[in-house]
Amino acid sequence: MLRTYTVQADGRVASCCGLGMRSIPELSVSTVDEEGFLARAVERSESDLLKLWIHTLGPDRVLQWAAGKDPEIRWEGMYGHHCQTCQRLYKDPRVRSVIAEHGREMAGTVAQALWLDQYLAPEVLGRPDDRPRPPARTHDTVSRSAVRAASTRCWRSYSRAQRYPPGRGPAWGSSPVLA
Ligand code: SF4
Repeated sequence: MLRTYTVQADGRVASCCGLGMRSIPELSVSTVDEEGFLARAVERSESDLLKLWIHTLGPDRVLQWAAGKDPEIRWEGMYGHHCQTCQRLYKDPRVRSVIAEHGREMAGTVAQALWLDQYLAPEVLGRPDDRPRPPARTHDTVSRSAVRAASTRCWRSYSRAQRYPPGRGPAWGSSPVLA
């Protein structure tokens, strides 16, 4: 998810290259008929919290989280492949309902994980050899703007909950996700 975009034979562009790309409509994010179809595919995908969540933590963690909200959701030991779990996330009405109702709670965790994995850790740990750094935006990196957008959504929710005035909060860069 969000690492490989796939152009299929019928012209649909999927935001992954896995088993679910043909059977999960939400994974088809543009078609080759659209101008700038790849850029649109990336933009739409990176604006979707669930896709960022799957990209960051994997579909099994999402399903585990949903089962924590609804004990009727059984999942452990049922799947042999991530893409099967992913199908469950998108196809099971019970799981979808939990994600729709509570998924926004995860915006901060997702944004923080993105920032740590893709920006902070490489900067702090450096790279294992002297190869030149890749460009800021590569196919396996979610853009800073997407991380920032997820963070902003989270901060707005947090500000509303805390009754902070709009615009008050930590600057991006010092604490990108939560106060
Ligand atoms: S787990 Fe889901 S998003 Fe990832 S490759 Fe499989 S179908 Fe695509």
